[in-house]
Amino acid sequence: MYEKERQELILTLKEKGITNERVLKAFLEVERHLFIPQALHGHAYVDNALPIGFDQTISQPYTVAFMTQVMNPQSGDKILEIGTGSGYQSVLLHYLGAKVYSIERNHDLYLRTSQLFDKLGYRIALRCSDGTLGWNEFAPYNGILVTAGGPEIPTNLKKQLAPGGKLIIPVGDRKSQQMHILQKTGEDSFKTTIVPDFSFVPLIGREGWKIG
Ligand code: SAM
Repeated sequence: MYEKERQELILTLKEKGITNERVLKAFLEVERHLFIPQALHGHAYVDNALPIGFDQTISQPYTVAFMTQVMNPQSGDKILEIGTGSGYQSVLLHYLGAKVYSIERNHDLYLRTSQLFDKLGYRIALRCSDGTLGWNEFAPYNGILVTAGGPEIPTNLKKQLAPGGKLIIPVGDRKSQQMHILQKTGEDSFKTTIVPDFSFVPLIGREGWKIG
């Protein structure tokens, strides 16, 4: 279903600079409409963020593709995602062979997405908690990807990254952020690249924004 629409989305992603063939194939194979409300299925393959309820969104496909391309997960990599939301990004990482751990703070969304994963048969570890604290039990991670925008980079996430691992997180104010891409080069040293112009829902938590 929606095969032609997905092909068109791939062309848009290529035009915007997504070149990784594995990532493009994942966008062709993983059906985005399964992760959004039925009333919006007709918009699933337009390059826009969409509402998923509880004041949250599924991110714009280009943004998801950009972060996935930067992460470039390899088979068996352990990846922690903060902000499960609809589950679409988690499934793309899983499709690319990663062992995915994902944290969502909103309990209703957590329950809904857990049920969806059960129904679709995905084995992805989910947890309902404050993702700014990470998930220490399974650390260190080869990659940590944060899909909500925070005021700073949570120290726990930096600590839970494996040597050589990548942490990708939008940082800025509540409306617009810059993507910070950190690669761990030593115990507490990182090489950082910053890419401007992103807009995410707020990362709320102990090392994020306070509610309100
Ligand atoms: N990756 C998601 C997807 O594919 O649908 C994007 C979801 S949305 C842009 C970001 C999510 O981050 C929201 O569901 C929000 O509830 C969640 N969130 C915000 N702060 C969080 C925190 N501290 N820990 C875990 N999840 C958080």
